[in-house]
Amino acid sequence: MTDNHKQRMQKLKDKVDERIESATEERGLLIVITGNGKGKSTSGFGTVARAVGHGLNAAVVQFIKGTWACGERQLLENAGVKFEVMGTGFTWNTQDKEKDTIAAQKSWSKTKDLLQDKSIDVVLLDELTYMVAYKYIELADVLSALKNRPINQHVIITGRGCHRELIELADTVSEVQSVKHAFDNGVKAQKGIDW
Ligand code: ATP
Ligand code: MG
Repeated sequence: MTDNHKQRMQKLKDKVDERIESATEERGLLIVITGNGKGKSTSGFGTVARAVGHGLNAAVVQFIKGTWACGERQLLENAGVKFEVMGTGFTWNTQDKEKDTIAAQKSWSKTKDLLQDKSIDVVLLDELTYMVAYKYIELADVLSALKNRPINQHVIITGRGCHRELIELADTVSEVQSVKHAFDNGVKAQKGIDW
């Protein structure tokens, strides 16, 4: 029994070692965190924190302004992370497409600067997927900016319903599935947990 286990583990280790050895390329990654479950933005911010902990330069663009300021902002700004937050014109509540488009395009224009800046190692584009879904910004423009970014720059895109072409372009894609959420049982959004 024990021997069997040992053998199995050794086999697994050999396989993993082989794969680690064959992964030699080093370059910036495009990561997409999508799906309906909770954990997309927190994953993106977690990665930013991880990068900053290693002394890398990071920037965050938030494409949807929530009702509350997110807790990560102050912490990460204090750590030197640049934040671009979409103007007050845009929240889920607005029904003014023209105003929203202007706000989205302003943030997208700042994003394009970041995607040309070699000094920025990691860029988090939080809730970008909706800007593409609602056609506030052009998919072709997004794809081209991502393809032409500095070779070593990592980009993380979060948001539900990510466009198929962004998923195809990405190196790593995770879909967060909702199994249950406290909100469904009447629990309101909790400070420090939900924002
Ligand atoms: P988080 O920021 O907590 O990682 P998220 O980025 O995955 O969440 P969003 O779709 O951006 O999720 O929604 C943000 C807010 O909605 C958060 O307060 C989150 O807790 C809440 N939320 C996320 N998923 C669900 C869900 N399946 N049902 C209800 N509320 C949700
Ligand atoms: Mg989110």
